[in-house]
Amino acid sequence: MSRPLPVYDFATPAAEEFPSIITLENTNVCNLRCIHCPQGQGFPDRPDFHATYMSWDVYTKAIDEIAQYPITLLRYSPDGEALIHPQFLDQTAYAKAKGVKPVGLTTNGVLLDNPAIEQGKRLPRKTMMERLLEIGIDLIDISLDAARKESYERVRVGADYHRVWSNIHRLLYHRDKMNAPTKIMLSIIVQPDITQEEVDEFVKYWTPLVDRVIVRGYLTNLGLTPSKPGTVVDQMSGVERWACPQFWKRITIGSDGSIRFCVVDWLEKTVIGTIGTHSIRELWHSDEYARLRKAHLEKRYADAHDLCGPCTDWMGMRWEWGFELAVDAVMGKRKVADQPPPLPNAATSGGIVPLTSIGRHAA
Ligand code: SF4
Repeated sequence: MSRPLPVYDFATPAAEEFPSIITLENTNVCNLRCIHCPQGQGFPDRPDFHATYMSWDVYTKAIDEIAQYPITLLRYSPDGEALIHPQFLDQTAYAKAKGVKPVGLTTNGVLLDNPAIEQGKRLPRKTMMERLLEIGIDLIDISLDAARKESYERVRVGADYHRVWSNIHRLLYHRDKMNAPTKIMLSIIVQPDITQEEVDEFVKYWTPLVDRVIVRGYLTNLGLTPSKPGTVVDQMSGVERWACPQFWKRITIGSDGSIRFCVVDWLEKTVIGTIGTHSIRELWHSDEYARLRKAHLEKRYADAHDLCGPCTDWMGMRWEWGFELAVDAVMGKRKVADQPPPLPNAATSGGIVPLTSIGRHAA
């Protein structure tokens, strides 16, 4: 007997009105070549790769719109390292001044001790981390990914473990000394190159020190990074596929101003609009978004988009255990368990919320 269609919906009226997580890529350039990331798998060497730094005009247009809506998070930066952008402090200050909240940086943490540069000038005796705290960034989420120097430098190619470890402790010291409200999160990816013992060691060491520790699943970034045994795809073997939550939760803005529906689409094949030509809200309510949601709800994944059909990365995007929960927890908005609930199965249908919705069409 076939099961009824799983039911999904926007988590809140605000999320139906406007995406709750906006992932903004201020640059697609990175200073590291991590083994679990396309940056470490030849992405910057591709002939179609162009190093891009978001222009001030595109950035401010995006922020001016985002500032009008309640969101869960404005998050820098999906594909590149946000701290590399020479205007990153200006960008953060602009978003904060416009009232965007919360503003969060996801970073490898290497450049947090670099000299602060604002409006093209180096600030005397100030580091990037100190200025970010002064500006009042709401969240700094550091992808550390290991608990030991040897494995860290094998996984995070190009980084110095002691520098990043020290940066995290300095960040905590400055945050507490300044009594800044910034929350600090650390994450580690479960992959075969890091033992479970080391993951446990990581959680045990950092949990008492920072505001939240996240253990992430490994994604293939639509095939740009290799499948690995023992990661999400193996753990999910036999689980029935569900609609990709991104269509109801988040949107991604590329460094060239392109707007795409899939955060792991590094090759920009899911672009549906451009900052300056389209508003984010207009796209969120567009016929095309409604079509994508409907196709996913009806399990016609390949009809939704060529990339969705063969995709396995949806397995790392659970409805009941998304990044928005960690953000809400660390921002003190709601209590969230430390561990994910058991994987959905045929009995639970993966259905988490009571309505099925494709969203309103643009007026
Ligand atoms: S199903 Fe895969 S390709 Fe489609 S939006 Fe989700 S993660 Fe991206």
